[in-house]
Amino acid sequence: LSAPNDLEAWWLPFTANRSFKARPRMIARAKDMHYYTPEGRAVLDGAAGLWCCNAGHNRDEITAAIQAQAAELDYSPAFQFGHAAGFAIASRIAQLAPGDLDHVFFCNSGSEAVDTALKIALAYWNVQGQGSRTRLIGRERGYHGVGFGGISVGGIVKNRQFFGSLLAGVDHLPHTYNRAEQAFSRGEPEWGAHLADELERIVALHDASTIAAVIVEPMAGSTGVIPAPKGYLQRLRQICDKYGILLIFDEVITGFGRLGTAFAAERYGVIPDMITFAKGVNSGTVPMGGVLVRKGIHDAFMKGPDNMIELFHGYTYSGHPLACASALAAQDIYRDEKLFERAKALEPVWADAIHGLKDLPNVLDIRTVGLVGAIDLASRPDAFGARAFEAMDRGFHDHDLMIRITGDTIAISPPLIITEVQIGELADKLGKVIRAVA
Ligand code: PMP
Repeated sequence: LSAPNDLEAWWLPFTANRSFKARPRMIARAKDMHYYTPEGRAVLDGAAGLWCCNAGHNRDEITAAIQAQAAELDYSPAFQFGHAAGFAIASRIAQLAPGDLDHVFFCNSGSEAVDTALKIALAYWNVQGQGSRTRLIGRERGYHGVGFGGISVGGIVKNRQFFGSLLAGVDHLPHTYNRAEQAFSRGEPEWGAHLADELERIVALHDASTIAAVIVEPMAGSTGVIPAPKGYLQRLRQICDKYGILLIFDEVITGFGRLGTAFAAERYGVIPDMITFAKGVNSGTVPMGGVLVRKGIHDAFMKGPDNMIELFHGYTYSGHPLACASALAAQDIYRDEKLFERAKALEPVWADAIHGLKDLPNVLDIRTVGLVGAIDLASRPDAFGARAFEAMDRGFHDHDLMIRITGDTIAISPPLIITEVQIGELADKLGKVIRAVA
């Protein structure tokens, strides 16, 4: 399929975001570390698509698995049938999961995974005869997708203020970013673990018997790459244990190797009660998400009060055969190419390369953790009649680099197959763009 000459008329019916509308650009194909424009220009992928293509693009093994599955079983209703790929991938994910998290609910996205996890938490307490535990606690600058549950617990005020009352009884812990204390951190910042104690304050305010769950990202990704400070997640775990509050890690970004371990929970040595995942589960190839839980929580959710009813939960496409097959193939690649270990081994090289940009103009802060980096730029609304990020976006386009900019933060998260040479190339392009817009 090729684009007609009148590009704008062609794409107008497609709801595109403002970045695309400002600079419409088409992409024709992708392979490994690169996207290719219809004219054949190679664009280096510094974002793994949208934090998801961890194995790189268009891996033959995944394509073959999807094709083979489609030729065999195109669709299977989860309410009536099981199928081999579904069982196999659930077991694989359970094996990778920390502690006793060994049951998986599949869905189709990170947003659905979050909403499912919140429902599971509320149902769990109902089944325990503690139906008063309805409060949910998120975090400022938390991002948990765009569903009603996710925007309620999410910490981006403008994402929720237009949508009515949303979920009732939601509190937000403070975010943990403090430039004065943590600037230019590598890995987890030393400062900030004490902010977990804010949970004690919320408990004191509302009483633990009203609180169902706390949901946090081990590293806030979409709101600027903010890794949990050293000891923060352990402290949250302790306080949750003290009051019997469920702890949910939203690992939609951090799952499947981004921080050098299968799940960030492993890196931090903290076992949550639930983990949400999506994106990297199948390297971004077919929409898929899920929630990992332990047996007791699973059973409570599925059975409902007094084992009387079977809860009506599940999506038409939960555990879709093509998604499961693509995930199995992606997990094979992760295992065979040791990509999680590779991300861990590359972390110092990555940190050196990205922190090497610290003396460039307008750089306020740089953070790196795992194979993730963030560069905060001074906002200069005057320079181009636009905020820094719009000029940067144009610069990345001109330098054939695909990267994500949110606010005045550049977020970098390459596929885990990136080589040391490509890390150098990426840092070089980044430096050129930052210098060009200075
Ligand atoms: N949770 C987190 C932590 C995310 O980063 C995202 C997406 N960036 C989501 C949930 C939502 O995922 P999706 O876009 O697949 O709905």
